[in-house]
Amino acid sequence: MTTHLELPGYAHVYSGKVRDLYAPVGPDGAPVPDQLLLVASDRLSAYDWMMSPEIPDKGAVLTRLSLWWFDQLSDLVPNHVLSTDVPAAVAGRAVLVRTLDMLKVEAIARAYLTGGGLEEYQAKGSVSGVALPDGLVDGSRLPEPVFTPTTKAPVGEHDLPMTFAEVEAALGVEVAVEVSRLTRAILARGNEIAGARGILIADTKVEFGVAPDGSGGLVLADEVLTPDSSRFWPAELWEPGHPQPSFDKQYVREWLTSAESGWSKSSGEPPPELPAQVVEQTRAKYVEAYERLTGETF
Ligand code: ATP
Ligand code: MG
Repeated sequence: MTTHLELPGYAHVYSGKVRDLYAPVGPDGAPVPDQLLLVASDRLSAYDWMMSPEIPDKGAVLTRLSLWWFDQLSDLVPNHVLSTDVPAAVAGRAVLVRTLDMLKVEAIARAYLTGGGLEEYQAKGSVSGVALPDGLVDGSRLPEPVFTPTTKAPVGEHDLPMTFAEVEAALGVEVAVEVSRLTRAILARGNEIAGARGILIADTKVEFGVAPDGSGGLVLADEVLTPDSSRFWPAELWEPGHPQPSFDKQYVREWLTSAESGWSKSSGEPPPELPAQVVEQTRAKYVEAYERLTGETF
């Protein structure tokens, strides 16, 4: 269970693992259907558990970083942002967006090999049906970004890999091809920009939607190129052959799986409280990623 704020003038409609969604209430007292207030909380999930305590400023970092990226990507793809004029209680961590029908696919692209992509490559020599050169190791750069979609599982269930044929069956051939092209283009553009600022984006997940009346093309929604949706690696420490240090919640995952936490991933027991130092380090990682990328002080 997560708790959300009560916001005067807004009706709560949904809470995901990280975001709370509200509909603005119109003058007639009814929720406005074509707009959503997307509020990013400071919640952090790892291994499908909600961590406690929260990570101060995380919601603001994710929101400001997504807004910055939406601008950087605006010539590639339209986005859902309508306004950053939001209630004071959520200032800096909320945006007003267009309500979209979200595609039932998590659009993932990988530029470097690690995690689930690495496991698949080691077993089959390919990732999501794309054949890759021999000899790649953990952290290797791929010849070009590969589209590795998954299902968008309901809260509490795991996302599962999808073949491209399954994406075509779910979305239609034309939309599937466009989702793949845009996802890879977003990651490629992300790496052009981030690379110059000392960050490699190993992989990322984006979400697309379409207008409920079916007009127009794909719209980039949710969050984009954040440390929650992507693996960010400090470029100066990149060294293929082993797991890379990172700016994302990998730090929390490492603490959880270390002897120090006393927790076992397979126990089914909730993880322990994060020590103050882990919370502070994680906050620092998120802020550093934001500052490196945007060149702005958080
Ligand atoms: P995950 O942790 O995998 O991101 P989640 O569903 O728990 O999943 P949150 O980021 O907490 O994710 O919640 C955001 C929710 O808002 C997601 O379900 C996302 O699909 C949805 N969403 C984002 N932008 C829009 C939009 N413009 N219109 C409708 N729904 C949107
Ligand atoms: Mg999300």
